[in-house]
Amino acid sequence: MSASMRERHNVPTVTIGAFPTVSLTRRRLAEIMVADGMAAREAGGAWLPKAVFSSNGQGIALAGRDADFARAMAQADAIHADGMSVVKASARTRAPLPERIATSDFFHDAAVAASAHGLRFFMLGASERQNAAAVEAARRMYPDLQIVGRHHGYFGEGDDAAICEMVRASGADVLWVALGKPRQEFWSIANRERLAGVGWIKTCGGLYAFLAGDAPRAPQWMQDIGLEWLHRVLDDPKRLAWRYLTTNPYSLYRLMRHTERG
Ligand code: UDP
Repeated sequence: MSASMRERHNVPTVTIGAFPTVSLTRRRLAEIMVADGMAAREAGGAWLPKAVFSSNGQGIALAGRDADFARAMAQADAIHADGMSVVKASARTRAPLPERIATSDFFHDAAVAASAHGLRFFMLGASERQNAAAVEAARRMYPDLQIVGRHHGYFGEGDDAAICEMVRASGADVLWVALGKPRQEFWSIANRERLAGVGWIKTCGGLYAFLAGDAPRAPQWMQDIGLEWLHRVLDDPKRLAWRYLTTNPYSLYRLMRHTERG
């Protein structure tokens, strides 16, 4: 995994909760996205998109139970710390993470960097309504950002080839994929070759719900102490209470057991 980001961009990588996790700031990750996007344009069809995934308690727990998910994660080019628990667990490793890179924050760094450098986004995933609303919100927030295509996330495997062709034809440099864990990671790895020439495939889970204004972000103090998950549970208990009750304790165990020391 992360060999490419580690070697090409000299980014330290540490094992946290069994995932090789990149230790860098949001800003640096956005710079790397721009560099990879430009390199992909030069290489054209010879460029295999970099799969950039994220790590949080839910994913760490899932990888312990589901070998297919663990294998998909192992094929990522970079995994960044989406959850505060991952950042905290890194404190005693040789490369403590400088900050949390929540995908819902990183999108904004990425949009600013993409606007400045002419990078193009394609936004895949979520319901048709939420996808359209998220794209509209992003366009409003970043008038110079080129969003060259969008598609909802409720399609079958038989549609994969056509969707990938749509993404390639759009000239997108970064494909945002919001299909929920683990589908988005499976989809990204399974379709990577069809997306040759696209710089990055970036998984983004609940991002469009936040952009569309369907779900509120937690207050900063809750994010800072690692309780954003609790805020999400209180906002949508029917869907999320079971997820976090079952994954939190196991992810803590895996963070203790599978984080490198020293
Ligand atoms: N989703 C989708 N297709 C599917 C399943 C889910 O587009 O087959 C979308 C769903 O509408 C939501 C996102 O994937 O917008 C998953 O959000 P969730 O909050 O579960 O993601 P998280 O950030 O917690 O991983």
